[in-house]
Amino acid sequence: MRRKTSDAPTRIYTFGCKPPQVSDEVFEYYEDQLWYSHRYANTLIELKNEQREAMRATRRAQPKAAPLFAEIDQLNAEIDKIYAEIRAIKDGTPVLEARPKWEPLGKVVKSLKKKLIKKYSEVSKLTASNPAVKAADKEAYETYWARLKEARAATLTYWGTYTAREKAAKERFKAGLGPIKFKRYERNGLLTMQLQGGLSVAEMFSGQDLRVQIDPIPDEVWSRGRNQRRKGCRTHVRMRVGSRNAKGEIARGHTPIWIELPLLLHRQLPEDGVVKWAHVKRERHGHKFKYELLLVIEAQSFKPAVSPAPAGKGTIGVDLGWRYQDDKAIRVAYWADSFGQHGAVDLDAYMIGGFDVVRGLKKSRSERQVKIQSDLDAFFRGARKLPDALKEASAHLRLWGAPKRFYKLLNVWRENRIKGDEDFFAALEAWDQKDRHLDDWQANQARRNKNRRADQYRKLTHLWASTYAHVVFEDVDLTRLARGPKTESGNPSTGRTARDAMKRAAPGHLRLLAKEMCDKFGREFVKVPAAFTSRDCFFCGHSEPWEDRSEEVHRCAGCGRAYDRDHNAALNILRTSERVPPETLQMLADGKLPKLQPKPKDFSRRRPDKYIPPFERSQPQPKVLAKRRGTPTAPTIPAQGGTP
Ligand SMILES: [Zn+2]
Repeated sequence: MRRKTSDAPTRIYTFGCKPPQVSDEVFEYYEDQLWYSHRYANTLIELKNEQREAMRATRRAQPKAAPLFAEIDQLNAEIDKIYAEIRAIKDGTPVLEARPKWEPLGKVVKSLKKKLIKKYSEVSKLTASNPAVKAADKEAYETYWARLKEARAATLTYWGTYTAREKAAKERFKAGLGPIKFKRYERNGLLTMQLQGGLSVAEMFSGQDLRVQIDPIPDEVWSRGRNQRRKGCRTHVRMRVGSRNAKGEIARGHTPIWIELPLLLHRQLPEDGVVKWAHVKRERHGHKFKYELLLVIEAQSFKPAVSPAPAGKGTIGVDLGWRYQDDKAIRVAYWADSFGQHGAVDLDAYMIGGFDVVRGLKKSRSERQVKIQSDLDAFFRGARKLPDALKEASAHLRLWGAPKRFYKLLNVWRENRIKGDEDFFAALEAWDQKDRHLDDWQANQARRNKNRRADQYRKLTHLWASTYAHVVFEDVDLTRLARGPKTESGNPSTGRTARDAMKRAAPGHLRLLAKEMCDKFGREFVKVPAAFTSRDCFFCGHSEPWEDRSEEVHRCAGCGRAYDRDHNAALNILRTSERVPPETLQMLADGKLPKLQPKPKDFSRRRPDKYIPPFERSQPQPKVLAKRRGTPTAPTIPAQGGTP
């Protein structure tokens, strides 16, 4: 076996597949493998939990840790109590009636769990140097390993897949003492082939390898037009998922069991590429399964050329804030650079329309479900003498929330028809058909929305990283903000909240992509503390708490200037980053434009606003704002206070 000595970069290629084209026997085997793989993952969790249990017991025996454990026990008791309350709410009220909200309780649990983790880490610190604890830990670890080896020997999972499960588990089980949750089986999963020593792309296309094969497609396909290319790149992949012996039985042997899937090889693989891992992934998508082939490929040609892009110049500061401008746009962020340019990052009406479609589908599905639920509830309660299977399948119908329980009921009902059920049965069948259709539609639309947004963000961050030397973002915890109070709401009449805008805007994704692009281009990605970026006036330094968070144009009480508050925040981020020389900052504040270094480019879909110095902006006609917000009745702000 060759050791990994290569320094070549790795990339993951993902290709869409159609469901496997294999015999029923192999398909059954494939499904079994997914189930074994899932079970193996849960076995790993079980073993880890045992190890942690042992570690906790050792620490509990330490007199020093007793007070901490008293607190831990109390926290656990509180969590259990809240869980019981949530269960009571969920089980106690039928879906058809107004259900008390349990989400606030969920939040309490989350914060308690955080405290619990903190307590555990305090315990760890307290007992870390104790030799008795160390010895016991070592023993617990050795037991874990011994049991892991047993489990590995006992699993029916084919070898590449269990190695991959172990690798994934290692990632998941970082240091800690708390118990890990098991995962529920949704018939999803990955089957994996580890290609030890690597398999060159050419070998993979040769059809000779006994692990992974892809039928080659002619080279000229890549030079064709898009439509022809998409047709030409249809092919098949075969991945080994097991073995047969000489008698043809599924057992240790030399004959591979292939899982074969139609594949759309929409990207050319690098000629010098070496495949290290191959995964066939199945994921529930609506009520259907989506199949994908993932190839982890290493190649020298992934290395960027010596100078990937002209050296970046200057700094860009990006302020993340999300709100509806009106029905036509969601503002995701605002940027300002050290050359005096600035502009907004918006999701346009087209995107919002896409999100609204998903919302509408969700709503319509839930209405249809409530309707069928109340009809069936009446029927089953009125029906006498139900067959046992049907009785069981329709138990607690009033409490159901998930559509799949209705799908299941239909399946059971089909086998257990009773007298006089025709109308209701037909109603459920009709509901089922329609709901599956809507479910599909919803899943596809949601995926399309996500892709569209990702595409816009990728282009934008690519431009930022290729232009500037430093890209600065605020170090805000976006998940915390998402849960925060419903401020910053745009238009209250539409009932849309900041939370909703944030979900759609996915500012965290924008920031993540910016970081990745910076890494790719070798630029500096800077995170600055978020404090006061929107409260301090960039121009005069005056600080004031703003009451109206939804106001876009702010007039500073210190200097009298009126400006877009997001623009002000972006400028403050530039200053806090300490990547912009003080002279430049002074020029920006004075409205004197430093010499433009990079040519202004089309940053987002719209061109960046023409630079207008602050003293001109406070003139009666604030063109920039009026244009950007697209409202003919933009507020006009009379000049006031001193101009520089
Ligand atoms: Zn000011």
